[in-house]
Amino acid sequence: MRVHRENPARPRELVGSVPITPPEAVEVIAREADRRFREWSRAPLSARLEPLRAAADRMDADVGELGELLARETGKPVVDCRGEISFAAVYLRWLCDRAETVFAPTEIDDRLGRLTVTPRPYGVVAAITPWNAPIILSILKLGPALAAGNTVLLKPSPLAPLTVTRVAQLLPESTVVHGGPELVQALIADPRVGKIAFTGGDAAGRAIAAAAGQALKPLVLELGGNDPAVFLDDFALTPDDYERLVLASFATSGQVCMAAKRLYVPRRRGEEFLDAYLAAAQRILRVGDPLDEAVTMGPVVSRAAADRVTALISDAAARGGRIITLADSPEREGYFVDPILACGLADDAPLVSTEQFGPAVPLLTYCDEAEVLSRANDSDLGLGASVWSADEDRAFAFAAQLEAGFTFINTHNRTGMSLHAPFGGMKRSGYGREYAEDGLREYIQTTVTHSPAAFRPGGPGLPARAYPAATGI
Ligand code: NAD
Repeated sequence: MRVHRENPARPRELVGSVPITPPEAVEVIAREADRRFREWSRAPLSARLEPLRAAADRMDADVGELGELLARETGKPVVDCRGEISFAAVYLRWLCDRAETVFAPTEIDDRLGRLTVTPRPYGVVAAITPWNAPIILSILKLGPALAAGNTVLLKPSPLAPLTVTRVAQLLPESTVVHGGPELVQALIADPRVGKIAFTGGDAAGRAIAAAAGQALKPLVLELGGNDPAVFLDDFALTPDDYERLVLASFATSGQVCMAAKRLYVPRRRGEEFLDAYLAAAQRILRVGDPLDEAVTMGPVVSRAAADRVTALISDAAARGGRIITLADSPEREGYFVDPILACGLADDAPLVSTEQFGPAVPLLTYCDEAEVLSRANDSDLGLGASVWSADEDRAFAFAAQLEAGFTFINTHNRTGMSLHAPFGGMKRSGYGREYAEDGLREYIQTTVTHSPAAFRPGGPGLPARAYPAATGI
């Protein structure tokens, strides 16, 4: 049995296929990963980092070919696909440079005693990833997990299984398995799997968290978002800023966890904003074949995704929303959805209150800051947000009140990422972090060896019921 992947821009074109891993095979695969773990985790850190650096070099060397394959299986513009692969290589090198520090054991030997704190890997890590940025979201798990000494079983999405399989083959001690929810359940339940890392949607997240809870296994959950972009009344955007803002919502046809998904503009500046936004969309949005270098927006990933977003847009129109088409899709064979801006919707319209994950964005107006703060925070989700203002201090002060794991200032989405910035959600957008040193620490557990001063050879000793630290020893 195989997973076949079609090209969402030309659904009759089969891009490739991969073998399905039956859930019954997990035991043997996990046993082998566990056996490899025992050897890999004992190798010096430098020996583990070297093949990761080599993989980054290979990704750069093959970026043209890999980028084209990624564009054909996901429908993302090829320029963006190459960018994702290059960024993943940059991240791998960054983590190799940081790993020596983050994974170093520490020892304290002072008047309180002798104490070592040693980071240790979990064993076999199960990583479950989505289709929309499969390379970077897999590398964010594989890289730190492998550097820390774990081995990894990676389960990519059936909607983008091909490029990630190729990339994972460049990394040591990573095994790719393909399948659906039953395979994921088997991975989580296997006694050799010590940690689970998941990025994806709400429904899968709940199923995975329940299974991990049942098995009492630690879990990183990176889930969806419904990011507000708040324009304070002094916002000052250049035409380039507007173009960046348009792509913050419509890159990958809006199918990005941290896309700008709700735009809040002061009422008295609404017309001015709309005119400049529409002009920028005209300039920057080119909808078409993802392999065309000039294209900035391709199709959505599947027929089901196109139907779901189209239904949200129809619902918005039925509620009296004014739907403005930002660019026409020239090709109709694939799963293309025209990008739209929806004006005049109430906050309870599903296009506003749920993660739309498609090329449709509501433009909402507000009267004062207290009001917009409460409306921006009125969501179960808390992944990203942005604040736009001519006054950076004012923007930071407003950002401090937003319930979001990552707030961008005067930008939103990938243009605002930093390798130093931990990324992850508040509220129902998940827990745990990726990127930065926090993202590395997800794959180690600290263990301690302690010889209290009182009981060291020749030490003063202590009464049996004393707390050593409280007595100052
Ligand atoms: P998805 O949840 O449908 O699939 C993600 C992975 O989970 C895939 O490998 C899939 O095969 C598997 N899966 C699906 N249902 C499952 C189940 N019931 N049990 C176990 N595994 C299951 O998500 P998707 O459509 O691939 O990606 C879109 C979602 O991911 C959006 O909600 C998006 O916001 C979110 N996302 C979050 C981040 C982040 O960093 N927070 C990044 C990218 C995407």
